[in-house]
Amino acid sequence: MSENVKKDILLDVQHLKKYFSTPRGMLHAVDDVSFQIERGKTLGIVGESGCGKSTIGRSILRLLEPTSGKVIFDGQDITALNKNEMRALRQKMQIIFQDPFSSLDPRMTVSQTIEEPLKLHGIIKDKKQREQRVLQLMETVGLAERLYDTYPHELDGGRRQRIGIARALAMKPKFIVCDEPVSALDVSIQAQILNLMEDIQAKEGLTYIFITHDLSVVNHFADDIAVMYMGRMVEKAPSEKLFENPIHPYTQALLSAIPVPDIHHQMKRIVLKGEVTSPIEPKPICRFAARCPYACDQCMHSEPEFKEVEPDHWVACHVKG
Ligand code: SF4
Repeated sequence: MSENVKKDILLDVQHLKKYFSTPRGMLHAVDDVSFQIERGKTLGIVGESGCGKSTIGRSILRLLEPTSGKVIFDGQDITALNKNEMRALRQKMQIIFQDPFSSLDPRMTVSQTIEEPLKLHGIIKDKKQREQRVLQLMETVGLAERLYDTYPHELDGGRRQRIGIARALAMKPKFIVCDEPVSALDVSIQAQILNLMEDIQAKEGLTYIFITHDLSVVNHFADDIAVMYMGRMVEKAPSEKLFENPIHPYTQALLSAIPVPDIHHQMKRIVLKGEVTSPIEPKPICRFAARCPYACDQCMHSEPEFKEVEPDHWVACHVKG
């Protein structure tokens, strides 16, 4: 078993649930998810659209109120905080969104956008000092000083995402949820932004959750990777281990779809058949059973437990786990 006592845990998520009421019943977007992240590390959360990965990020920050469960941040149960206490703490917990264009106010210049949180939270009261801080943040994220008074529509996607990163950094956070931060960008720009985020993490000692639908994006970036399927975490392991020895059938299918440069090491593509079951009032069976080539009787009658099958490698599967 893992020696958690020795780890410096910044974020401890315990039995997190987020359900949404719909006309057809409760939609179980996130259903009893538990994990921890060490300070200064990155957890990649991967899965198809609608698997609950973005809802986890927003529930941790309480941008969405969790239905139940606990989020312990730096030793403090933040699910018990009131709105004012949470507002103060949110300075330490930031988010970077997928679409930098729609997350920026088109009427605000680069400098106004980065300056806004500093003003709102009264972090730096002196205008001159605030301008200095904005310039410093622009330099950190690689935005030239000449862009100070430009508007988002005048910039490309990469630069717009740099504004989003600078804005998040303005509050000197400890932790950032990065919600598909490079998905809307060209491949060449994706690498630049990922390198920038890695550099900043090393300098500032930041802890990240990196949410993506694309396993290949987090391969080199994340220390650990968690795979989600229909509101459940189905596998979690250190990145290398997950890529070398994927255990859950869904992880195996995701990995088989990633092209690798050496064709001798390309996994045989696993094409998933069968219907995706509904996340509304799901039955207490394995949620992947309808698409799983290994499904057996037990899978159709009980939900597999998320178990540590070897040190730091967690899997929810009756057959493979
Ligand atoms: Fe497949 Fe059964 Fe494992 Fe679910 S529990 S992933 S259906 S083998």
